Amino acid sequence: MYGWLGGYLHAEAVAANRELKQLSNDVRHELALANVQEQLERQALVIRSLLEVCARKGLFTDPEFRQVLDEVDLSDGRRDGKLKPQGGPRVCPNCGKTNSRRAVGCMYCGEPLQDRELL
Ligand SMILES: [Zn+2]
Repeated sequence: MYGWLGGYLHAEAVAANRELKQLSNDVRHELALANVQEQLERQALVIRSLLEVCARKGLFTDPEFRQVLDEVDLSDGRRDGKLKPQGGPRVCPNCGKTNSRRAVGCMYCGEPLQDRELL
């Protein structure tokens, strides 16, 4: 009697578990996004401050800055208003072996490879 109840409860549990996993994925994505947003805001502050110092010292004019911005934009091969850092193979600081440029850790000794600077 009520043998079907086990299956019913199990299905409910599976559905609840699935919902929970989706929820935790959503939360993880939200956190990652908030982190990126914060990094962007910090970079914006540094860049704005640098430009302000340059402007106060009269180091360059707006058109000169735009000219250089355009040149740097083109330096990665595309005029797209962005700079994609280019990198060759990454040398491990621990064992000195060469890893692919996308490697986050050394495939020989496991040493974490530092994030490439964006600027
Ligand atoms: Zn290594």
